[in-house]
Amino acid sequence: MRLAVIGTGYVGLVAGAGFSDFGNDVTCVDIDAEKITRLSRGEVPIYEPGLDVLIAQNAKAGRLTFSTDLAAAIRSAEVVIIAVGTPPAADGSADLSAVFAVAETIGKNMNGFKVVVTKSTVPVGTADKIEAILRRFTDEPFGVASNPEFLKEGAAIQDFMKPDRVVIGSNDARALAVLRNLYAPFVRTSDRIHAMDARSAELTKYASNAMLATRISFMNDLAVLSEKIGADIELVRKAVGADPRIGPKFLFPGPGFGGSCFPKDISALIHIGASLGHELEVVRAVERVNARQKKLLFEKIRRHFDGALEGRTVAVWGLAFKPQTDDIREAPALVLIEELLAAGATVRAHDPAAMENVRAVLGDRITYCESMYDAALGADALALVTEWHEFRRPDFSRIKRVMRNAALFDGRNVWDADELRALGFWYTGIGRG
Ligand code: NAD
Repeated sequence: MRLAVIGTGYVGLVAGAGFSDFGNDVTCVDIDAEKITRLSRGEVPIYEPGLDVLIAQNAKAGRLTFSTDLAAAIRSAEVVIIAVGTPPAADGSADLSAVFAVAETIGKNMNGFKVVVTKSTVPVGTADKIEAILRRFTDEPFGVASNPEFLKEGAAIQDFMKPDRVVIGSNDARALAVLRNLYAPFVRTSDRIHAMDARSAELTKYASNAMLATRISFMNDLAVLSEKIGADIELVRKAVGADPRIGPKFLFPGPGFGGSCFPKDISALIHIGASLGHELEVVRAVERVNARQKKLLFEKIRRHFDGALEGRTVAVWGLAFKPQTDDIREAPALVLIEELLAAGATVRAHDPAAMENVRAVLGDRITYCESMYDAALGADALALVTEWHEFRRPDFSRIKRVMRNAALFDGRNVWDADELRALGFWYTGIGRG
């Protein structure tokens, strides 16, 4: 099939590379000319394990090309996939201006039947709006579909190539048939395609992210309680997760969730509910708990130093919102760093992949360190914010030697409190009473 994938971010690039790997002819389009130039040269502008190889193989085979010419890509495609960003607007709703701008260009360049697919996460009812936009500009036949994406950054290739489920939503039978055909090679082992109407598909994406975020905020809330009553949330987590009705995933307490999806999708879902006169009370609480949790590490550090952080140096390990990505959107580390700087502390940070992205936001307000040990040099406190593998079993005696004051704030509960206390560290985790 001939595909145009519009938007070459985490989702568009992975989808474009993934579809081309199964033999489709894919043009990936972006308005960011620099990005397209780099991609055409064989450079991958984001960090996502395995993506560089997948792109290189398919580009070399001539099945994957990159372009800024949206009109040409649309005209030559049978399926046009919209994967542009849908960032939060000032009022918390999803900003759909990029989606609608692309829809307008699609409408103006229709030349025969096409399936127009939204892969971006969009509010319920967006497929209808896209259909109306297309109709304004063309009499050609088309089918509009919603195909929300469930990949996880850091494991995006695996998730895309072997999806747990593929959700396709459309009120047009031809569009559903085309998408079933497109996804058939991805679900060869068993049929994991969920076909439905467009509104249900759009809601499925928000419902999935809201459920996952709810589990995290629930555990974060209990972690605070756990500390107050002298329980260990890690023991509680494992025992609770052993119930097969609950399951062990997404129960990890931590410094609050970030990323490009959960915070914005939750806020958009709340907005969708409010606009229809329905208060989504659980989701509101999830958002409130998360905002509080993102300040927890800072509060712990401040308390440890009796409120006096002026002149203190804090090492921050991990800047990306999670391991295996360079994505720093809504990252808890950024909240911690801003609070530390406002309180007069100096920050020395290290992250294996995200330092350049942070430098673009924070400039020289913090020190970027080439290694985790370098970050700990002369520090009064060390906060682990993102649990990259290399941070899990570091050489603690080396850390002890280089720190000025051996206080550890384990934002992910990955270190052994007893072992560290025996080594002479002061240690605190999240919810470990
Ligand atoms: P991103 O910000 O990484 O990439 C978006 C890309 O779209 C950018 O390269 C941008 O230049 C391009 N773009 C913007 N306007 C454009 C236009 N008018 N024409 C062409 N290109 C345009 O975003 P992302 O993380 O890939 O997310 C894309 C969508 O997928 C969002 O709706 C997001 O919620 C959803 N989603 C993301 C993830 C994820 O893990 N990142 C997972 C599932 C769903």
